[in-house]
Amino acid sequence: MSAAAIALALSVSCARCNGPGSATPPDVLIVVMDTTRADHCTTNGYARPTTPRLAEFAKDAVTFTEAWSPSSWTGPAHASLFTGLQVSNHGILTSPTAHLDERFETLAERLAARGWSTACFSGNPFVAPAFGLTQGFATFESFAPKSGEPPRETPARASTRRALEWMKSQRADGKPFFAFINAMEPHAPYNPPSIVAQRFLRPGTPAAAESEARAMKHPRTLVLGLGLEPLTEDVRAAVTELYDAEIATVDAELGTLLDGMRAAGLLDHTVVVVTADHGEGLGDHGWIEHSVFLHRELLHVPLVVRVPGSLQGGRTESAVVRLEDVAPTVLEACGAGVPSGGDALDGASLLHDLAGRTARAAEKAPLEWYERAVGLVGDRAAAPVRLARVSAFDGQFHLIVDSDGAARLFDVANDPAELHDVSGTMAAKVSSLTALLPPFPQ
Ligand SMILES: [Zn+2]
Repeated sequence: MSAAAIALALSVSCARCNGPGSATPPDVLIVVMDTTRADHCTTNGYARPTTPRLAEFAKDAVTFTEAWSPSSWTGPAHASLFTGLQVSNHGILTSPTAHLDERFETLAERLAARGWSTACFSGNPFVAPAFGLTQGFATFESFAPKSGEPPRETPARASTRRALEWMKSQRADGKPFFAFINAMEPHAPYNPPSIVAQRFLRPGTPAAAESEARAMKHPRTLVLGLGLEPLTEDVRAAVTELYDAEIATVDAELGTLLDGMRAAGLLDHTVVVVTADHGEGLGDHGWIEHSVFLHRELLHVPLVVRVPGSLQGGRTESAVVRLEDVAPTVLEACGAGVPSGGDALDGASLLHDLAGRTARAAEKAPLEWYERAVGLVGDRAAAPVRLARVSAFDGQFHLIVDSDGAARLFDVANDPAELHDVSGTMAAKVSSLTALLPPFPQ
């Protein structure tokens, strides 16, 4: 730590001891509901009650209804969330074992250097020290499912319970804290507790369809998603309903966590961000799960932010914003310094100037996925898995370009499901968005 950072850390620590009138830095909580697509959240107008607790919290926060991830899988999305950089600038992409380089400064590192205690409670095995994504977190606890003995409580319950205990202990010590939670439940397999599933499964769901939906995961999703076998309507419905039940499972634990923070006097002083790393295909474009493609259902994520005294009051913002915007927002809210000039981040703070942002995304599945797909469905059907993809979204139009040159343009404002390619009639828009595309991943 530099002398300047030590001086700042000391001033932060003293500020918390000086009582009313002092510039007390806020605490920070970020919760990622892994794999949660925005249009399946109550906060984005979804008809089923998947996130009532988040919607309740949003009444005293700001809901960003058009927040986009820069990737359709966990590693690059978390790297962008933590660094404020686009995928092409942090380079985590094509391998599940890719490691975020130590030269990148994460939000946790920036806050730790200024006196915050930091902790990561992760349900996702890729959000772990082995992949460099936990740089800056002094405390790391994994809640990823382990083979063998079934857990005594769901990962979301266990991680939120531990996070609350940890936050209380930090407050007792008088230090500002940054807690990060990844809740993995919405990720396949879609296997929610039965009591929650029964609230979402339609009456008369065939037992075989429920059973197949509960077992749905890679590489079975490759076989169905690449069209080798049909996805029946019963199974697709059960997949969707069980997925919704998984979101509701996380939402209930999120509500309990926020209740606990409020009861402990922690909530009013905490910057809270609730979001997802990416969405999920539920057969919308044939694809189940995520990665490989860049359609909106894979990139559009929920984002609810509360900054005490600033982002509050329950309003919604419909301008396009990005996961890269979270780190600079938190840094600004904490008075911790937003990098500028040559060190400027790709993201920009959500505390002002929302207009004019472009969401850029890039994706390339691991080579072993392609090889596995060839073995399952043959060269021809597996071909889409080999391609890289990039996209740009300006708030109305979304351009997706494949590495073989195929381009599709969707008028998201009028076609949110991206069912009608309008690239053939809008050459000028294709051209202007092409200029905004990120580089193809190698
Ligand atoms: Zn993920």
